Amino acid sequence: MQVVLATHNSHKVAEFQQIVAQARPDLEIVGYDGPEPVEDGVTFAENALIKARAAAAHTGLAALADDSGICVDVLGGSPGVFSAYWAGQKKDAAANLELLLDQLRDIADPHRAAHFTSSIALVLTDGREHVVEGRWPGRLAKAASGVGGFGYDPIFLPDGQPSGQERSVGEFTADEKQVQSHRARAFAELVPLLAGL
Ligand code: IMP
Repeated sequence: MQVVLATHNSHKVAEFQQIVAQARPDLEIVGYDGPEPVEDGVTFAENALIKARAAAAHTGLAALADDSGICVDVLGGSPGVFSAYWAGQKKDAAANLELLLDQLRDIADPHRAAHFTSSIALVLTDGREHVVEGRWPGRLAKAASGVGGFGYDPIFLPDGQPSGQERSVGEFTADEKQVQSHRARAFAELVPLLAGL
């Protein structure tokens, strides 16, 4: 059975291939090069579904898609679905990060809680739809550190680290991030669904 993955991000394709191979080695992940839908949902789940539905409709195959971002408590959950273009439609990751740091400049550590969220949608050929979600709780650092990962990683301090030795995700190895991240947590929810197909 083939499943189309509605993303052009090669990093995500590799992550999905790995997780699908673990859950269902007989499923083949294929790339999607059809038309891109307008992502006009107001939640991660809606945008993931919009992308998966478009890929399923275009290919006639079951489809997987994800949508993700960072949510800051004191900003009422923003940037949220606007994470990729928080500082403008140019989708400049460095400008997004600088703007977020600037907005929270006077906010003290106890009030800097945030989490990454990943929603993954699975749309089947019989019309059934599933959405799973993973969250990675933490807080925003006062300044960027590390050069690993992408997006907001250099300013995100995941919960559960020994005090005095906290690192941003930008300082994590790729393997450390891959087992703890919001996507890893969403993937864990996806595995039983794939197994049950
Ligand atoms: P998308 O799901 O690829 O559309 O990601 C939306 C945006 O959320 C990205 O451009 C990043 O700004 C942010 N984001 C999502 N996942 C991560 C992550 O793992 N680390 C850092 N930023 C992320």
